[in-house]
Amino acid sequence: MISIRNLKKSFKGQEVLKGIDLDVAPGEVVAIIGPSGSGKTTLLRCLNLLETPSGGSIKVGPIEIDANRSLKAQQGLIRQLRQHVGFVFQNFNLFPHRTALENVIEGPVVVKKEPRAQAAERARALLAKVGLAGKEDAYPKRLSGGQQQRVAIARALAMQPDVILFDEPTSALDPELVGEVLTTIRGLAEEHRTMVIVTHEMSFARDVANRAIFIDQGVIVEQGPARELFSAPKEERTRQFLRKFL
Ligand code: ADP
Repeated sequence: MISIRNLKKSFKGQEVLKGIDLDVAPGEVVAIIGPSGSGKTTLLRCLNLLETPSGGSIKVGPIEIDANRSLKAQQGLIRQLRQHVGFVFQNFNLFPHRTALENVIEGPVVVKKEPRAQAAERARALLAKVGLAGKEDAYPKRLSGGQQQRVAIARALAMQPDVILFDEPTSALDPELVGEVLTTIRGLAEEHRTMVIVTHEMSFARDVANRAIFIDQGVIVEQGPARELFSAPKEERTRQFLRKFL
């Protein structure tokens, strides 16, 4: 579903991603873990071109972007790729002046030109699926952080993406609200949706992800089946990192 080759990203001469290769199979749930500043968010943002890669290639389904060529010339492809890739942000990024329902139908109506009534019907079902039946007309500021993040997940699902990327989806939440969002994501994993999740929730990553990837200083240090990586990390750097969470 996803194939990344030699992905590089520099900010002002500082190389933050140093040639990442990564493949994700359909239905696979991949957790990306690693220290703060190691490049996890940058990797996720490069994947749907929210960040411009400095080099390498990114393929999602049939759509391939070659970052070694002019991205301007590939704008049409980038737009297509984004329609196939959902993104859930750390800070929810809901439209503050739109209700929960309006937030969820925005993409289908504006980007995919779906009839509003049809989009609204699906949005209601998606809000119910994330446990928010009855909150359709609530504005974001009247919702808790956990509820806002679940609206954001419903919004991502509304575009019927092939892949959903989660950038530390629970790190902006009060501790008592983390569980409801993780439960929602766990439910999506049980439906075998393809997902890449940057997270600091180690027990969640161990239990829910098929594969875990440990990144440090812009390189993949180690990856493997999530249970193995957490129970028997092979690299000293991975061991050191995981020790902090014991
Ligand atoms: P992580 O998600 O693992 O915490 P990030 O991908 O956010 O790491 O950041 C990796 C490095 O890139 C950090 O040193 C960070 O300061 C730098 N960085 C990230 N975004 C930018 C940006 N827009 N401009 C300059 N430097 C950035």
